Amino acid sequence: MTNEMIALSKLHPREGLWQVNAPVPEIGPDDVLIKINKTGICGTDIHIWNWDDWAASTVPVPMITGHEFAGEIVELGRNVTDLQLGQRCSGEGHLIGKTSRQSRAGKFHLDPATRGIGVNEQGAFAQYLKLPAFNVVPLPDDIPDEIGAILDPLGNAVHTALSFDLIGEDVLITGAGPIGIMAAAVARHVGARHVVITDINPDRLALAAQVADVTPVNVAEADLSKTVSDLGMKQGFDVGLEMSGNQRALDQMVEAMTMGGRIAMLGIPPGKSPVDWIRIVFKAITIKGVYGREIFETWYKMIAMLQNGLDVRRVITHEFPVADFEAGFAAMKSGKSGKVVLDWT
Ligand code: ZN
Repeated sequence: MTNEMIALSKLHPREGLWQVNAPVPEIGPDDVLIKINKTGICGTDIHIWNWDDWAASTVPVPMITGHEFAGEIVELGRNVTDLQLGQRCSGEGHLIGKTSRQSRAGKFHLDPATRGIGVNEQGAFAQYLKLPAFNVVPLPDDIPDEIGAILDPLGNAVHTALSFDLIGEDVLITGAGPIGIMAAAVARHVGARHVVITDINPDRLALAAQVADVTPVNVAEADLSKTVSDLGMKQGFDVGLEMSGNQRALDQMVEAMTMGGRIAMLGIPPGKSPVDWIRIVFKAITIKGVYGREIFETWYKMIAMLQNGLDVRRVITHEFPVADFEAGFAAMKSGKSGKVVLDWT
C-alpha cells in the first residue's frame, strides 16, 4: 500500500473544497483503517464548502471533510480482535468519550465530548479513513455500498421518526430534503396511517412522492388544513417531525397538531427564532430535540428495517466519480437533488 491518498480537503478558509494528496492516516491500537468505496454529501458538507459562520467558527483548516461513507477494513489496530480484514462496513461518525455520565450510562449519543469526523477530525472524503473499531458498523451482504454511504443521514431520519410511537398515527413531516423524505419512508414502514410531507420546493416534493407513499403538500401554494380535511383527519396530526429548520414550518406544524401531540425536531434554525409558546403550552405538546443517531440502537433498527423491506434507494438521485466532486456539490447546491453519492473506487 502506498502511503499517500487522494482526499477532499478544506485547505483554505474560504468557499470551496480542494482535491489534495494527503498521507494515509496512521492508526492507533484501537482503530481500524477503512478503504473508502462510496461517500454521501451532507448538508453539513455544503456548510463547510460555503464556509458560512457555523463552519468558520467550528472547522479547523486544513480539514478532510465528509462523514457519510461505506468501505472495507484494510488494517486492524493491535487491540482489535472482533473485526476482520476485508469486512465491508459503514460507521458512526461521532467519536465519543468514555468518561461522561452519559457515556458511562450507555447513552453514547448524548456524550457532551462528542467529536465529528469531517468536522473536528479528519474525515471520510478520502481513499482511507481512520476510525475507532468501536465506531465500525459491519454491512450485511444485502446492503450495497451506496446505501451504506447514506446510513448516517438515514440514521438521523430513523432516530427522529422512532422518537415516538407511530403505529396508526397521523404524521406531519416539515421539510422534504433527503432526511425528511427518508423519515417519511420510515414512518410508512413502521405503520403510520397518514404521512404528510410539506416543503416549498416542488422538485423535493416530487421526489418524496417517488420514494415513499406520502401526501406531499406545497405550502407555498396550498393550505395544509385542506389536506387535513381531505384525508378525513378529525383533529390534526398526532406526531410531527420537523426537518426544515424553518420558523414558519414549525409554526404551521404547531398549528396543525392535535391536543397532546408530539414533535421531534431535527431541523436546525439559522439562528435564534421566535416560538409561539402559548399555543405549545395550551395544546400540551411534547417537543424533543434530536441529535445524531442512538449509538448503536438506531444502527441496529435501520439495518433491520432495510433487510425487512424499507426501501430508500430512490432518494439517491446522483452518483459521481470523485474526480467530478465539483459537479456533485453543484447538484447538491441546486436544491433539485436528493442524496448525492461520490464513488472512490
Ligand atoms: Zn451527514
